[in-house]
Amino acid sequence: MNPWLSVPPALLAGAAAMTAYGATYPRSQLFGPVISHSDAARKLALTFDDGPNPAITPKLLELLTKYNARATFFVVGKFARQCPGLVKEAAAGGHVIGNHTETHPNLFFCGAQETREELRGCTDAIEQLLWAKPRWFRPPFGFRSPWLGEILHQHGMANVTWSLIPGDWRSKPAGWLIDRMKPIAVRAQAHLHKPGGAVSGDILCLHDGDYSRLNGDREHTLKALEYWLPRWRDLGLEFVTMNGVMGKAVAA
Ligand SMILES: [Zn+2]
Repeated sequence: MNPWLSVPPALLAGAAAMTAYGATYPRSQLFGPVISHSDAARKLALTFDDGPNPAITPKLLELLTKYNARATFFVVGKFARQCPGLVKEAAAGGHVIGNHTETHPNLFFCGAQETREELRGCTDAIEQLLWAKPRWFRPPFGFRSPWLGEILHQHGMANVTWSLIPGDWRSKPAGWLIDRMKPIAVRAQAHLHKPGGAVSGDILCLHDGDYSRLNGDREHTLKALEYWLPRWRDLGLEFVTMNGVMGKAVAA
């Protein structure tokens, strides 16, 4: 049952603005702690959602290897079951695999039980392939709910949002996406080599898959990365996985 159905309409309406803010704003802590930045301006965390995707993920892994970059892949459980080799290949390459639910529902409309099952399904899929439970979770569509924080805590996972989400799920030319990813370089140029500059760095949310089906087209994401990866490297940015985002090394 959807728990929102049992809330009186007036109360629901009154709480709507606050709840919408808490459910979607990447930095909002209303529904439990979230990680939206790395702890140092030089650390850029590349994250990819909605895979694995046979049409894109292999090319993306190749591209990341070319620039010696490690990233975090928030996989959909059902796709991980269908493409186990891609998940294993990514993990073997030093990338980190995170949980993006089993079927990619909007968790804002899921009750506690359904939320728990969605998280457990994806964790099981990852654990069967890698013999380790994921430590990082990204909510589909960025939506959270009042019970998500407690369920994540029980599963030993931290909630990860982003500092930049350029919208690469849209069908747009690579040039459009390249432009939308510019803030990372602008911030790096402004803060990287100046004492007392911004201490936090970016968590970039991109997509190597399409949550609704396998083999979605994300060629423009590859092209935009082909453009930016060497430039980010030359600016002095370090590519970190979620395990390296918070200073002290976190055991995988
Ligand atoms: Zn997603």
